[in-house]
Amino acid sequence: MKGVCILGSTGSIGVSTLDVLRLNKDLYDVIALTAHKNINRLYLQCIEFNPLYAVISDENLAKQLSIKLKDVASRTTVLSGQQALCDVVKLSDVNIVVAAIVGAAGLLPCLSAAESGKRILLANKEALVVSGELFMDTVKSNGAELLPLDSEHNALFQCMPSGYLTGQKADGVQKLILTASGGPFLNTSIDDLKSVTPEQACAHPNWSMGKKISVDSATMLNKGLEVIEASYLFNTPATDIDVVIHPQSIVHSLVDYKDGSVLAQLGNPDMKTPIAHALAWPNRIASGVARLDLTKHGTLTFCEPDLERFPCLKMAFDAQNAGGVMPAILNAANEVAVDSFLQGRLSFTNISNVIERVMNSMENQTADSIEKILQIDGLARHEASTLVEAI
Ligand code: NDP
Repeated sequence: MKGVCILGSTGSIGVSTLDVLRLNKDLYDVIALTAHKNINRLYLQCIEFNPLYAVISDENLAKQLSIKLKDVASRTTVLSGQQALCDVVKLSDVNIVVAAIVGAAGLLPCLSAAESGKRILLANKEALVVSGELFMDTVKSNGAELLPLDSEHNALFQCMPSGYLTGQKADGVQKLILTASGGPFLNTSIDDLKSVTPEQACAHPNWSMGKKISVDSATMLNKGLEVIEASYLFNTPATDIDVVIHPQSIVHSLVDYKDGSVLAQLGNPDMKTPIAHALAWPNRIASGVARLDLTKHGTLTFCEPDLERFPCLKMAFDAQNAGGVMPAILNAANEVAVDSFLQGRLSFTNISNVIERVMNSMENQTADSIEKILQIDGLARHEASTLVEAI
C-alpha cells in the first residue's frame, strides 16, 4: 500500500484523484487530505477515506471539523494553517503527494514535499512557475520524483524516451508541442471579449475545472503557464516549445524528435487519466475514464494560436525568455487580476493589461532564495491590486 496526501482534496483535481483512489483501494491508503474553506466536502471525504490527518486553513473551521468528526468513528486528527500543510507532506506514511492547491499558495507545501524526497504529482503549476529552478534543484538534490498531472505535461512525459525522468535533457528531442483547446473564446471577436462575464469565461467547452484555471484557459494564460512549466519539467528553453490549437482536446501534446518522428498521447479529456498514470507509474491502473472512440470524433483539427486575441500567451513566452523572477511576477499579477475579474471588479480584457503593466514596472527584480521570491511575489500582488483599483 502506498500512502497518499492530497493537497487541495476538495478541488476539481482533488475530487478526481479520490475517484481514482476509490477504484484502487487495495493499492493506496489516504493519509492526509487538505482544504482551504470547504469544510462540508472535507468532512464527507474524511468519513469515506478516514485519513490520519485533515488540514483546513482556518483554525476555527478546524475546530468545527474536529467536533463533527468526533461524532463518527474516525482516526482523523484535524490541523490548521500553512505549517500543517508543510508538515503532513513530510509524514513517513506518505509516499505520494498530490499537489492540487490552486495558485502560489501551494508553493511551500510543494517545496516541503520535494525536500522530503516524496513522489510529487504536480497539478499546481503555479508553484513551479513561481520557483522554477529552485524547485527543480530541490527535487533533484533530495531524490524526490516529480511527475506531471497537467494533461499536456503528462502526455509529454509519456512520449519521452524510455527511462526518462523530469528535469533531464531528453536525447534526440527537437521540440515540444503543447496542444491547447483555445478555451471558450476561441472564435470570439476581440471587441466582444471586453464584455464577457465570469460565468462565460468559466464555461470551458471540454474540461470541467476550478474557476481560476478556467479563466486562465479563457485568456490562454494557462497555456502560457504550461509553456513555463514544460520548460522547467523537461529542461527545454521556451523557444523550443510550440503551442498548437486543437479544439477537440483529444491529442494532449506531442514530442517532435530529430529523426522526424512525432509521438503523441491521446485520450478523452478527463484528468483521471493523467492522475492514474502518475499514481501508478511505471505501472498502469484503472482510472474509470470512458474509452476513446476515434470514429465518434471523426475529425481532429489543428491551427496556430492568435496572439492578438490572446496576448497573455505571448507575455508568458516573454516572461520565460526573460528568465529570473519574471515568471513569478507574471503569475502573481495574473492571480490578482483573475480574482478581481471573478469578483466583477476588472474586465476580461484588462486582465492582460494588468499583467503587462506589472511586468514592465518590475523588470529589474532578481531573487536567489525562496524568501526573496516570496517578497517579489508580494510586491507584484501589491502593484497589481493598485492597478486594478486605478483602472
Ligand atoms: P480548485 O479551485 O477546484 O481547487 C483548489 C483546491 O485548493 C481546493 O481544495 C481549495 O480548497 C484549495 N485551496 C485554495 N486556496 C488555498 C489556500 N490559500 N491554501 C490552501 N488550500 C487552498 O482548483 P483545480 O482543482 O481546478 O486546480 C488545482 C491546481 O491544478 C491548479 O494549480 C490548476 O492550475 C491545476 N490544474 C487543474 C486542472 C483541472 O482540470 N482542474 C488541470 C490541470 C492543472 P477549498 O475547496 O476549501 O477552497
